Amino acid sequence: KEFAEISLREIDDIAKSSFPMCMRHLFEKLREEHHLKHGGRMQLGLFLKGVGLKLDDALAFWKAEFSRKVGAERFDKEYAYSIRHNYGREGKRTDYTPYSCQKIISSTPGVGDHHGCPYRHFSEENLTAALSRMGVNSRALGDVMSKVRNKHYQLACTLTFEAVHGTSCEAGINHPNQYFSDSQMIMKS
Ligand code: SF4
Repeated sequence: KEFAEISLREIDDIAKSSFPMCMRHLFEKLREEHHLKHGGRMQLGLFLKGVGLKLDDALAFWKAEFSRKVGAERFDKEYAYSIRHNYGREGKRTDYTPYSCQKIISSTPGVGDHHGCPYRHFSEENLTAALSRMGVNSRALGDVMSKVRNKHYQLACTLTFEAVHGTSCEAGINHPNQYFSDSQMIMKS
């Protein structure tokens, strides 16, 4: 479900305030390494489509990063197609939907991949560091980690949402785009 349009100008701020950790991680890695492997491009790309990034902006966004790594020409040749494809402008013209938590949690990221769900796929050490960076205080952090140890990854994400936003999230988190729209609703109210 589309929420509103987001622009490239505001995307870094919005990523910090309203992206769930899985997407924030991909976003930061893309900014840092100017590249993401296929699984990460799919997971982040479809999420961005779902939060309202228009196709032209999506192409500009990915091109700005990938050009720094592989060059603009190679981006146009090898990567632009799959972005248009995600938006239903190529191939079978299916309008692909963003991945749910269930799908992301059950994915199997390999070496060098940054997709997946951090609550499921990060080491405890990396997860703790990532939670601190999101501003989760130490009491909430303990609660989150205990959910993770019991393999309740979506509950861990819900507790993170509550800690970061200072409000309860009774429905629980079951989709990254739901995390985003619930967050934006709070930020804008
Ligand atoms: Fe992303 Fe869902 Fe994992 Fe939260 S529980 S980090 S929204 S996949």
